[in-house]
Amino acid sequence: MIKEHDFIAIGGGSGGYNSARVARQYSDNVAIVDGAEQLGGLCILRGCMPSKTLIYSAEVLHLAQQGKRFGLSIPEAEVDIKALHERKVSIIGEFTKYRVESMESDKFHLYRNFARFISEDTVELDDGIQLRGKHFIIATGSHVSKPPILGIDLPGIWTSDDVLELDTLPDSIIVLGGGVVACELAQFLNRIGCQTTQIQRSSHILKDQAPDVSEVVENALKEEGLSLFTQTKLKRISQTQSGFDVVFEHEGKEITISAQHVVNALGRSPSTKSLDLEKADVELKPNGQIKTDAYQRTSNPRIYAAGDCTGPFEIVHTAVLQGEFAAYHANSVQKTPLNYDHMLDIVFTDPQVARVGLTESVLKSRDIKHISAEYPFDDHGKSILMEAKHGFVRLFAEKPTGKILGAEIVSKDAGELIHALSVAVSHELTAASLLQTHWYHPTLSEIISYPLEDIVDELA
Ligand SMILES: Cc1cc2nc3c(=O)[nH]c(=O)nc-3n(C[C@H](O)[C@H](O)[C@H](O)COP(=O)(O)OP(=O)(O)OC[C@H]3O[C@@H](n4cnc5c(N)ncnc54)[C@H](O)[C@@H]3O)c2cc1C
Repeated sequence: MIKEHDFIAIGGGSGGYNSARVARQYSDNVAIVDGAEQLGGLCILRGCMPSKTLIYSAEVLHLAQQGKRFGLSIPEAEVDIKALHERKVSIIGEFTKYRVESMESDKFHLYRNFARFISEDTVELDDGIQLRGKHFIIATGSHVSKPPILGIDLPGIWTSDDVLELDTLPDSIIVLGGGVVACELAQFLNRIGCQTTQIQRSSHILKDQAPDVSEVVENALKEEGLSLFTQTKLKRISQTQSGFDVVFEHEGKEITISAQHVVNALGRSPSTKSLDLEKADVELKPNGQIKTDAYQRTSNPRIYAAGDCTGPFEIVHTAVLQGEFAAYHANSVQKTPLNYDHMLDIVFTDPQVARVGLTESVLKSRDIKHISAEYPFDDHGKSILMEAKHGFVRLFAEKPTGKILGAEIVSKDAGELIHALSVAVSHELTAASLLQTHWYHPTLSEIISYPLEDIVDELA
């Protein structure tokens, strides 16, 4: 049986759902195909929202345990893991319900199967139904990758999915990896009372950040008692009676760490293999992600791609913007393509790491004349009174215009603070114009005015 639709979203996560939602403004014949057991997508079910729910609880716990520093006596502050889990289930349940209700409404034709292409305009679902589309968006997301490490396939090795489902407290855990998910979950686990070891291959965790940014987070993690190894080479993982042994090289020695559980947080790969994309003439990049142009079009102009399956940034707001943009483009609505030079990304460790626009290394590689200015949080009123002295804010401004090209903040709530600078970068504001903004005292945000002053003075 062949069914015809104007717009077909393959994948009903952030990219696919939001693309279908926009496409629905222009046609009442829009389909969403998703074969997952549970509808909702990674962000809601097993990504951003559950992780941030748990991480926030762990931050409250940490503050309570630090009560003395604030002149408080909080004798017993500990995790109630069952209650923590139930709170997460309840919050995520609400988010999921809202999304699923919309997907199951009569706005969309919803197919609960996996799809693969059989030609350049038709997919076949697991149950044999064929769907022909005028336009498609591929938004099939990503899955945990398994690098070639001996033992990585052992039964019982966890992924982020398992950590987010915890309803009992493990005694000890080894988190493999130093990326965003690894760092966020390692700190969460350590804070709720699980003895945590984190093992990272590169010389710093969060290796895409400036080294001094990573160092601030590394120091904070170590201060909290997390055992962190960087610059390592993983050799093998083996099962023991009480859990796992992880063997790795570090500073010329072979080290074995034992723990009850191991989390593979070594990265994710695009979910593109089972789509039979060659039958639709859709090309891949060398890393397996789908190749698109600035309009999210693949090498087959009727097929678009968005989100983790195409990159270049595997984060939610990008998936949403890409999906929306594709749906507008498919319906001949003119919009400005995404500008990755204005990219915003956040790491929800504590201190958080937030970055917008161009980094120092990109500015240098593009030979863009610029100046930078920074200010530390250990010399700022609000952060001192909050006992939140880790970190700094750093701004990059074009020379001689003073246009803010990028910024990085590592601090308490950096993910909130960065948005003022995100507005500046997206709207190409100058340091002088930003300085005219009212910066309220005493706030963490106010710190941004100090490097702005330095930039304005230097360019005067
Ligand atoms: C632990 C964790 C924490 C994270 N935290 C954050 C955060 O704080 N902020 C942030 O921005 N990002 C975060 N991310 C990343 C973010 O969740 C993803 O970038 C985003 O959800 C990807 O959306 P997507 O639409 O590309 O894919 P998904 O939401 O994964 O949707 C893909 C859908 O496609 C379906 N599918 C796959 N193959 C087929 C097929 N052949 N046919 C039909 N359907 C198919 C799947 O079932 C799935 O429902 C986090 C990720 C993880 C793992």
